This record gives sequence, structure tokens and C-alpha cells, in this order.
Amino acid sequence: MPYQTIQEIDQIYTLQWKYKNEIKHSSAQQRKTMLKNLLEKIIQEEKAIEEALYLDFHKSSMETDITEILAVQFEIRHLLKKLSSWMKDKSAGWFWMFPNVSASLHYEPKGNTLIITPWNYPFQLPMVHLASSIAAGNTAILKLSEFSPHINQVIRRIIEAVFPQKHIAVIEGAVEETTHLLSLPFDHIHFTGSPKVGKIVMAAASKHLTDITLELGGKSPAVIDKNVSIRSVVKNIIWAKFVNAGQTCIAPDYLLVNKKIKAELESTFKEEMLEAFGPNPQHSPDYARIINDDQFKRLAQQLEEAKVLGAQIIAGGKMDEKDRYIAPTVITQVANTNKLMQEEIFGPILPIVYYQQIDEAIQLINSKEKPLALYVFSKDPIFNKHIIRHTSAGSTCINDAMIQILHPNLPFAGVNHSGIGQSMGWYGFKSFSHERAIAKSNFFPMSSLFWFPYTEKTNKILKTIKRFL
Ligand code: NAD
Repeated sequence: MPYQTIQEIDQIYTLQWKYKNEIKHSSAQQRKTMLKNLLEKIIQEEKAIEEALYLDFHKSSMETDITEILAVQFEIRHLLKKLSSWMKDKSAGWFWMFPNVSASLHYEPKGNTLIITPWNYPFQLPMVHLASSIAAGNTAILKLSEFSPHINQVIRRIIEAVFPQKHIAVIEGAVEETTHLLSLPFDHIHFTGSPKVGKIVMAAASKHLTDITLELGGKSPAVIDKNVSIRSVVKNIIWAKFVNAGQTCIAPDYLLVNKKIKAELESTFKEEMLEAFGPNPQHSPDYARIINDDQFKRLAQQLEEAKVLGAQIIAGGKMDEKDRYIAPTVITQVANTNKLMQEEIFGPILPIVYYQQIDEAIQLINSKEKPLALYVFSKDPIFNKHIIRHTSAGSTCINDAMIQILHPNLPFAGVNHSGIGQSMGWYGFKSFSHERAIAKSNFFPMSSLFWFPYTEKTNKILKTIKRFL
């Protein structure tokens, strides 16, 4: 499917710009009906979603079901349950200095929104953020990644079956189309992607003072104490790292492990990798491929460079360029100057770094940008608290990995370099809404205490208030 032209993009933008004033008045019931229709259409298209993701990057149908379809259905069902109460004005509480004033928060739609998404979860990410925008009463342009063409077709079919273009529109395009979209004034931009492009989005948004949510990436470490069940931790890490062939924003990027468990950890990795993917993971039906040639080349180069510099492969290491296959690879003795230890890996290569004292691990984490996620594995609650208190990260999961994104009561968010703003559930609804402060004077205007002309009476009121502050 060819990309939309700049003229077509402008037409869609104008249609939505006009429609935002109509859709903002939609009731909770109307928005829930839209979300229900979206959910039904997604359920009808499940098979097509699985097939498209297999074509885009050899993702198994089971993995698509777990990481793409389930996550979206979960999010929409949660919105359906909660939306009516979320849309209601909330009391902000009574304050003694304003005895006569009711303070409340009113949730109004932001207006016309732009959602830009990457290729790594090309169904889940557009859909969950779109669901938040619909729930909040906005129009939305969904700019999909240019690197997942098969799933893009299915998303387009789903959206066009459920929504008129003036409300929700899908735009396929690359840098030129996205740059044009970013030049237009939106009321909110929700961007998921790399920190590098996040900066471009933030700069473009600043021209119109557009509000933004940035869901970015980074190097997410997993710290492993000596005091753990090694087999369970290794299985957990293998799943979290190699699901989607490591192309997951919150995948453990590298491990920081207590040196005392080195030998047992490495032998367990060897055994469990064999158990998970068989003797040749290229034949495993569960294992995905790298999305495109550029990403393959980047990862292959980094792995080769690490090997030349003395890194030691514990498991995996094989590659097949024609198949864009990189075996699930566990590696150690990677130099700190190596790209694998400096940039977000975003692929199936897992470096292990050993520490003697926990402060070495903390120092390494803090020498890098704040990560999107940080994992801690330990049976010792003091150890867990210590790591949390001495580091910063978008989210932390203790004795597990990746499940924080699915918990309906938690926000999904980075911090600074790994993101700005929050998404999903209540936090997604809030990001796509303007939380408007409403102060209502009930019996007389509160400001009448200070009206002109200022007199001795004003002075006395002022002094009395100051005494009680
Ligand atoms: P990317 O930043 O290259 O692309 C994301 C989107 O931006 C795409 O739609 C792309 O078309 C557009 N884009 C690319 N270059 C652009 C430019 N110069 N100007 C304007 N738009 C441009 O990211 P990617 O390679 O698709 O995805 C990988 C990154 O996304 C990783 O860093 C990963 O950690 C991050 N990510 C974050 C989350 C999260 O929720 N925090 C989720 C998934 C992926």
C-alpha cells in the first residue's frame, strides 16, 4: 500500500480538526460503544493479526496472542469497566481557607491527537494508546511504523470498519510523512519509539506548545543477587529477553549478577536455553526474526565487535543473514566500551556483567541514562529496597520481569531519557484528557474578601489568614 500523500494527510487533518468539537461531547455510553465495536472487530480479525505478524517477523501465533492481542483486549475491557467513573468530575477535597468553595477536577478531551508508533509491537502499541484516546473523547491520527507493512493492512481494515476517518484515521508513512504530521498543530502527541526520534518529536511539539507523551527506550538492567532460585530466575530472564527476539522496549538489556553464582548461572543458562529453543533455535516455531536488514546488520556488527574484543559466548551466537536470524545469545566479558554495553541492544543478545559488591552494579546503572525498566531478583527485601532507593527507572519489577506493563492499576512510563508522561489504564485516560481545575464559590464570591478599595478591614482579614497558615 503506498503511503498517503501530503495532500491526503492535510485533508484528514482538517476533517479531524473540525470533528474534534463534536466528538468531545460524546457520553461515556457512546465511547464505550465505540470501544466495544473495536474489540469485536479485533476478535474477528485475530487470525489475520497472527498471520500478518508471522509475515512481518516470523512471530509465532501463540506469542502474538500473548503479547499483542491479549494485551489489547485486556486494556479495552479495563476501559469498558472503568470509563464511566473516570469521566465523572472528582472532588478535590475541602480546604479550611476556602470554606465556601467546592473544588473539583473535570476531565475534558484534549482534542485532536496524533499517535506515532514503532514496529516492535506493531499491533499492541497503536491499539492500546488509541483506546486511551478514544476513551478520553478525542480524534486520532494513528501513524504506524513503515517497517511492519502486513500488520498495518490489518489495522487499517479494523479501523476503517469501525470509525469514520474524521474521528480515527490510519496513516502509513516514513520520515517525510511523520515530519509533515509533526509540523501540524495537534492538541496532544503520543509518541512511542527511540529517544533519538523522541527529541525530534519534542522539538516539533514545542513550536505549537503541544502536550506530549513520550514512551522511549534505553538500557534496562536486571540485577541478580546471590540469594535466588537460579533456575527460576534464568527461565524468567530467557522468556523476558527472547520474547519477540529481544525486540522489546522493557526487555532486560543486560544482567548484573553477583559473582558468587557465576558458574551455576552459566551452566543453568546453557541447559535452559536448550530446553526453551531446542538444539537449533532457528527451527524453533516459537522464535521470531529481526524486523529488517538494517537492524540485523546493526546487531550482527555489535556481536562480532564484542567477540573480537574478547567477549565469551555462553549460549547462541549463530546468525543467518538471509533469514534475518540471530540465535538467542548469552554473552559475558563484554567491554564497557563496546556498543552492546553502551546502546540499547533491542535484539536477542544478553550480556552478563558480574559484580563483587552491589555498589559496583549501582554505579554502572547510574553511569547510564535512566532506564525504562529495572529488574531486581532477590529474596532479601533490604537488597530490593536498596536498589530502588539508589537508582531511578521508569518502572521496576521485583522477582519477575515484564509483567508491570500488564498490571491495570500501574502506569506505563519512562523517566527523562526513557520517557515523559504516562500511559495505559487510568494514566492513559488522564494523559489524553485535560484535567481541568474547577473552583465554585457557593454562597458568596470568596474574592470579595479582597475587593477594592483596600481598607483596614482587608488588612485585618489578611492578618487573620496569615495567623492560621
Ligand atoms: P523509531 O524512533 O525509529 O521510530 C518510531 C516512529 O517514529 C516510527 O513511526 C517512525 O516512522 C517514526 N520516525 C522515525 N524516524 C523519524 C524522524 N526522523 N522524524 C520523524 N519520525 C520518525 O523507533 P523504532 O525503531 O520503530 O522502535 C524502537 C525504539 O522504540 C526502541 O528504542 C524501543 O525501546 C522504543 N520503544 C519504546 C516503547 C515504550 O513503550 N516505551 C515501546 C516500544 C518501543
